[in-house]
Amino acid sequence: MTAPSRCLYPGSFDPVTFGHLDLIRRGIALFGDLTVAVAVNPSKSPVFTPEERVELLRDQLRGVATVQVTTFRGLVVEYCQRNGFNVILRGLRTVSDFEFEYQMALTNRSLAPGIETVFVMPNERYSYISSRLIKEVLEGGGDVSHFLPREIEEKLRAKLGKPRPAPLQPSAEPRP
Ligand code: ADP
Repeated sequence: MTAPSRCLYPGSFDPVTFGHLDLIRRGIALFGDLTVAVAVNPSKSPVFTPEERVELLRDQLRGVATVQVTTFRGLVVEYCQRNGFNVILRGLRTVSDFEFEYQMALTNRSLAPGIETVFVMPNERYSYISSRLIKEVLEGGGDVSHFLPREIEEKLRAKLGKPRPAPLQPSAEPRP
């Protein structure tokens, strides 16, 4: 008899983006139930605290009864073993994600052979979005409204001390 799949989606989520939300929707479609686990990893010096990242995720997932949001520290496979998860969900955006994700999946498998990593690709619309780049674009004064929900963008702007850029004015016609 096959064991029922219990799926954990771990990550930094600093902050959650449309790409993460797309992946969560796909994870629910595959596994029914899903737990999103925010990594407490001080060495990455995140912009949002773990509690804030959990809150941002919960706000976006309000009303989705099949998703839980939590935090974890340390090795993700140990968290899975302690809490009965046998599937780790990860996203693959581009080929450059693949190498690191592949190494991590095989390392996790050698640590915990009973846990499978499942990779899911987002809608291509979101395949180039990353939390790290969003922060860089926003710090540089760019528009990130296509990459994450408006209310999260506002909170990120407040954290980074960056006001919303003024809309671009049409350039004046050169005089003849
Ligand atoms: P981590 O530090 O664990 O990489 P992230 O929050 O950057 O944390 O990513 C968590 C997971 O979500 C990773 O598997 C990553 O590939 C995936 N992910 C991030 N952004 C996207 C996106 N735009 N589309 C699909 N998957 C994504």
